[in-house]
Amino acid sequence: MKKLVFSFKSNFIKKTKYPKNILGGKGFNLAEMGKKGFPVPSGFTISTEVCDLFYKNNKKINKNILNQISRELKKIEKDLGKKFGELKNPLLLSVRSGARVSMPGMMDTILNLGLNDRTVKALARRTKNQRFANDSYRRFIQMYSNVVLNIENYKFEDLIENYKLTKGVLLDTDLSSNDWDALISDFKNLVKSETNREFPQDVNKQLIGAICAVFLSWESKRAITYRKINNIPSSWGTAVNVQAMVFGNMGDDCATGVAFTRNPSTGQNEIYGEYLINAQGEDVVAGTRTPQYITKKLKIKTNSKQKSLEEKMPKVFKQLKQFLKSLEKYYKDMQDVEFTIENNKLWILQTRSGKRTAKSAIKIAVDMVKEKLISKKEALLRIDPASLDNLLHPSIDEKSNIKTIAKGLPASPGAASGKVVFTSEEAERLNLMMQDTILVRVETSPEDINGMHAAKGILTSRGGMTSHAAVVARGMGRPCVSGSSEIEIDYKNKNFKSNNHIVNEGELITIDGTTGRVILGEVETVKPDISGDFLKVMNWADNFRKLKIRTNSETPQDTKTAREFGAEGIGLCRTEHMFFDEDRILSVREMILSKSKEDRDKALLKLLPYQREDFVKIFKIMKGLPVTVRLLDPPLHEFLPKNKDEVLSVANSLNLTFEEAHKRITELHEQNPMLGHRGCRLAISFPEIYEMQCKAIFQALAECKKKNIKSIIPEIMIPLVSTEAEIKIMKNLVIRVAKEVEKKTNSKLKFLVGTMIELPRAAIKAKEIAKHAEFFSFGTNDLTQTTFGISRDDSGKFLNDYIENKIFDIDPFVSIDEGVGSLIEMASENGKKQNKKIKLGICGEHGGDPKSINFCSKIGLNYVSCSPYRVPVARLSAAQAEIKK
Ligand code: PEP
Ligand code: MG
Repeated sequence: MKKLVFSFKSNFIKKTKYPKNILGGKGFNLAEMGKKGFPVPSGFTISTEVCDLFYKNNKKINKNILNQISRELKKIEKDLGKKFGELKNPLLLSVRSGARVSMPGMMDTILNLGLNDRTVKALARRTKNQRFANDSYRRFIQMYSNVVLNIENYKFEDLIENYKLTKGVLLDTDLSSNDWDALISDFKNLVKSETNREFPQDVNKQLIGAICAVFLSWESKRAITYRKINNIPSSWGTAVNVQAMVFGNMGDDCATGVAFTRNPSTGQNEIYGEYLINAQGEDVVAGTRTPQYITKKLKIKTNSKQKSLEEKMPKVFKQLKQFLKSLEKYYKDMQDVEFTIENNKLWILQTRSGKRTAKSAIKIAVDMVKEKLISKKEALLRIDPASLDNLLHPSIDEKSNIKTIAKGLPASPGAASGKVVFTSEEAERLNLMMQDTILVRVETSPEDINGMHAAKGILTSRGGMTSHAAVVARGMGRPCVSGSSEIEIDYKNKNFKSNNHIVNEGELITIDGTTGRVILGEVETVKPDISGDFLKVMNWADNFRKLKIRTNSETPQDTKTAREFGAEGIGLCRTEHMFFDEDRILSVREMILSKSKEDRDKALLKLLPYQREDFVKIFKIMKGLPVTVRLLDPPLHEFLPKNKDEVLSVANSLNLTFEEAHKRITELHEQNPMLGHRGCRLAISFPEIYEMQCKAIFQALAECKKKNIKSIIPEIMIPLVSTEAEIKIMKNLVIRVAKEVEKKTNSKLKFLVGTMIELPRAAIKAKEIAKHAEFFSFGTNDLTQTTFGISRDDSGKFLNDYIENKIFDIDPFVSIDEGVGSLIEMASENGKKQNKKIKLGICGEHGGDPKSINFCSKIGLNYVSCSPYRVPVARLSAAQAEIKK
């Protein structure tokens, strides 16, 4: 039988390649600390593999594993000279979870296991402390009943509170041994009435019940949610750590606490932590008693009246300080340490890398390099790239009062508060009056662009992470919560309903685009600081990475922002986004609706100067850096007029009656606009559209040349290509227009022509397509949509079910899916076979996702392109990918 249960003393960690995967973070660190001579109570770890077996075996632990557990238990007994369930010197245990990465508070723990009506007396005799024994037993009954027997905690808390009321005392510590005895009886009665059974007295059954409960907590709602937010695969499972109890609740020379080796919210190099005298671990987190600070410095800083551990137990504090220092030095990272003091003896119960804010992560990494504790490479690996997003936007001050009324997708990070408005016009109107708004829409469309700009944040009830609202909001750096199906919008009555709340137009709400929360009222926010250490880390990252970072941008403002964040080019300029302005969209509609080439040419002629001017501005900002301009790719439904006024307006411009215009719109209606007449298909039917755009690009280029603006080499990108013939025809078109402009402007123009690979057929036929393409840019939004056949705009409705049913670990529109990845890899290889010099990049939303960036770096793409605010995330991710190679 394979060994699946490991003593903290076993040599396993040295013999195995990835011991953390098997022992979990907590088990691994306990084993390491034990070996290094830190005072760790004896124990053993049941491996994460058992978690998998447990679920495969009908949520039962098989006999072989039970035998291994009892063998390891005997070793603890031998170590301590105590026996589990016996009456002379009973051994008590703690049973705790421990996944590969720490998931603080997400899974279950049981302490004081091994107590029953008989061992509690033995414990009292042995320790000569009846109160302590009773206190431990009542804790155990409560915890076990809650975690294993599923009795709600408040029922026990109510019993304690009522008892304290009748006794006229305030604190648990004011209750005597007899009081706890009486409560134990009440607790047991409660268990009987809730379960129809006596509280279990067999200690071995207690132990098995507790271990099973910890495995079960891996699939608890909160653990699943945490995994989802942090992209932790459910297949990892949790380990279980069984450890001898040490007691912080034996009297006033006992305590328990948590200490961080550095301040987790500021990153300051100072011990930060809290403790409680005469208490057990859960008291510190439960909030029933207010913990005291560990250091005198913090006590003074916070005006606390209670004595710090430094003052109360100076000797133990000194020892703790030393241990903290050595632990940090050993793990070379800020540690979050749980400790217990039993009769003035210090025990370390756990150490793990401390969770920290993005700001403190950066400060700690930079400081540790200065202190020569870690190298720059290690420092870069310490910072979670995704967390940088929070740094770049104002974020919610979590200390403020927060009332969450709904959740949606965290589509664009940052927090914003404002009055609820339901139309873009209202957002613009209030913006002129300097009032902040949150634009609430079922979904957004191109006409909303001004409203989205005018609003401080966007909330939609429909649409996924790559919906129009999400993509545009991210590009603009506007916070956005999308696809919040919990809200029901009533445009007519100007309100939305969400979980029993009705929010009317004009009421204040806050959205948190970092977590997807919709919050009632205004919440304090904290401003970002991106100088100093942040810049330093970015510069280090640039020195390591090979992957270039470009941005998706089409406005001078976004382009400037992206440059400030370090973008080295534009990887995707979506030209249809350049037409969102009110006067421009009208011309686009004229172009779409015109029946004759003549009318279309007229509309295009109006658009040409706008395009040319925009390109000049962008080329100027990019100062010689590459700019990929994608020719028009509008899914028609995004551009067709929707309301009466809009139809009238186009009808007037085209000299049509309302009815004629309406008829034309109906003719153009598509069942599947995402798979319809868009991308290069539009230009196959109406080449004059792309001709106008190419003219605008080349004229802008010639103008820059004339004005001595550092010249750029535009990369002209043809969208939605699936066949060799399409790219061939389009390339010829581009070259023909270039020649015309060259002739007219008397200049020589340099440019590249390439294509997006965003359809499976294009990926499969990459070799043929590469004959006519100087670059490929993977449009992974559409490639994901078309590979899966899942609509990117509708996926929000059911993707959660797919994640809950473990069909997907992560939303494939967020992180590149394996299958989509295979297509990209295949297309890259075949593209290179055809054309060794072909430039390869990615411009879908995945270009800003750390996991996907790692993939892009691994398969040797030249660049990733992402929205401006994600550029720093991409810079760091690309460096990490290189360092990990
Ligand atoms: C894509 O499909 O990945 C892409 C970048 O294009 P768009 O999102 O504009 O369809
Ligand atoms: Mg696309």
